[in-house]
Amino acid sequence: TNDAAADVLRSHVRDIPDWPQPGVVFKDITPLLSSPTAFGVVIGAIADIARERGATTIAGIEARGFLLAAPVADRIGAALVPIRKKGKLPGPIRSATYDLEYGSATIEIHADAVPAGERVLLVDDVLATGGTAAAAHGLLVECGAEVVALTVLMELSFLPGRSRLGTLDIVPLLAI
Ligand code: AMP
Repeated sequence: TNDAAADVLRSHVRDIPDWPQPGVVFKDITPLLSSPTAFGVVIGAIADIARERGATTIAGIEARGFLLAAPVADRIGAALVPIRKKGKLPGPIRSATYDLEYGSATIEIHADAVPAGERVLLVDDVLATGGTAAAAHGLLVECGAEVVALTVLMELSFLPGRSRLGTLDIVPLLAI
């Protein structure tokens, strides 16, 4: 259940203060990854969300989103689509650039990655300012996908991420 997943996240995600820069508390999921039982609970919870929404494709955002999207796709028999940092995908791409606190970032998807009409669940570890998720969502919509929800392990509710995502359904396993 989602309550079980929230408990597992409280006990298996580690806060690293002031990393990668002062003032940021980094949510480190490596303790979750190193516990097969805990990781299984979390992957099961995301798989349940995917099934409930009839997702046929799971899209993961590089890099930690990949660690979650791949086992979920395998578990429910869905397609897996990587959304990557600039310059990594070999085929024809669509790309989206968004602002960071300092500078900007670009993410890319293969232009033919998602056949039109696919029901896509977008997955990442943390929703912070929402810039990454908004850009990924935009790429999927450009591809003709129907994005059924964004699922994250943790939503940082003290940041305005949710407000940047319009009407996209956001399903965090844990909101802090
Ligand atoms: P944002 O675009 O600000 O919502 O940032 C989301 C992306 O940056 C996600 O791919 C996260 O993996 C990563 N991220 C942002 N803030 C944190 C944090 N406090 N702890 C861990 N990862 C973070």
